[in-house]
Amino acid sequence: MVDVAVVGLGPAGRSLASRCAARGLSVLAVDPRPSAVWTPTYGIWADELGDLPETVVRARITNPEIRVHGHHPLNREYVVLDNAAAQAALPLDGVEVRQGRLTDDQVNALRDEADVVVDARGARPDGPEPDDPAPAQTAYGIVVPAAEAAPALQGAEALLMDWRTDWTTDPLPSGIPTFLYAIPLGSDEVLLEETCLAAAPGMAIPELRARLRQRLLARGVAQAVVDEPLDREIVRIPMRGRDHPPHEGVLAVGTAGRGGHLVTGYSVAHSLARADRLARAIAEGSTPEEVDVAVTADLFREAGLRALLRLDTAGTLALFEAFGRLPRDRQRDVLSRDSGAAGLGRAMWQMFAGMPHGARAELVRATVGSPRVRLPGRG
Ligand SMILES: Cc1cc2nc3c(=O)[nH]c(=O)nc-3n(C[C@H](O)[C@H](O)[C@H](O)COP(=O)(O)OP(=O)(O)OC[C@H]3O[C@@H](n4cnc5c(N)ncnc54)[C@H](O)[C@@H]3O)c2cc1C
Repeated sequence: MVDVAVVGLGPAGRSLASRCAARGLSVLAVDPRPSAVWTPTYGIWADELGDLPETVVRARITNPEIRVHGHHPLNREYVVLDNAAAQAALPLDGVEVRQGRLTDDQVNALRDEADVVVDARGARPDGPEPDDPAPAQTAYGIVVPAAEAAPALQGAEALLMDWRTDWTTDPLPSGIPTFLYAIPLGSDEVLLEETCLAAAPGMAIPELRARLRQRLLARGVAQAVVDEPLDREIVRIPMRGRDHPPHEGVLAVGTAGRGGHLVTGYSVAHSLARADRLARAIAEGSTPEEVDVAVTADLFREAGLRALLRLDTAGTLALFEAFGRLPRDRQRDVLSRDSGAAGLGRAMWQMFAGMPHGARAELVRATVGSPRVRLPGRG
């Protein structure tokens, strides 16, 4: 018997396995590619780095902006992780590492080998489901030389969300809006990513690619740069994580459980922070029955997701314009997976109060109304 078995070595599993081993627990870890370097471009706020060393930072952005109808500097440092360095900072020294892809039943069977079994296999351990109807964030991004990205950034150091609608030539666009995420990666490279924050089902990648192309060409980025980038990134994040709970007696962490933020889709900072607390609890013999227990703030975040799934373009822009005007601490309440109900409730109320009357009514309808039903043959 080992103390802990962790299945899945993404940010959630690796940080937990590493922290458990550091506390002297015996750990078994299983992943189909245990030595692979994580491929997504992970961004977190600099104040969420915790005790990770400076080496894990690939790029540091002092003042990212949100642009909607106005410009909203966030005055909060954002960092892009160097994934190899982050993994090195979460060593697996002393961990028994097995290569394997486990089913739900095989994860459950590990309870014969370990006192605590943790499922960290992400939201879709069987691979992406074709025609997955679940709400998802999707994005299509290209990596280009920094000099070529300048017209897209339009003077900003980085754009966390640029909601302006130059992804279309329609002056009054309707339907699901998308935003540009434009982030320097260091080494004179910039990621330009067209993002659909949430849609059910997720917006198709070819649609996002077409919107990004339209937007970047309209801003004056060279066509050859758009069509032949240095690299590409495709994002698909199921917003509600896994669609079923783990076996009884198995803990789920990260996006295998409720570790993802229902509105932003982010989970990495939360997983990094959660790992040490969970490792300590396990080491002290007070393993919780469940990780990331549902709390009142999750109801607010779920309401936010419902709104995002139903608001039209104008409503979404009004919402993020109000978000851009929030004080920094309230913005943090909205963005953090760990904010409490009081702060988040205050932030949501302030956003609501800051919206024009018509947009408020649309937000109420989107949040509490019945889902839009698309009748067959009526588009
Ligand atoms: C391209 C992209 C960019 C993103 N950017 C950000 C960001 O900037 N900031 C942020 O906070 N979040 C971001 N996210 C969202 C989210 O935080 C990530 O999806 C994050 O990787 C989730 O971490 P995780 O450890 O829960 O799961 P995963 O990263 O999915 O890790 C799961 C691990 O389990 C392994 N595994 C899978 N199936 C099995 C199986 N059957 N048996 C054994 N092992 C298995 C996988 O190989 C993998 O190592 C992004 C997501 C994507 C896809």
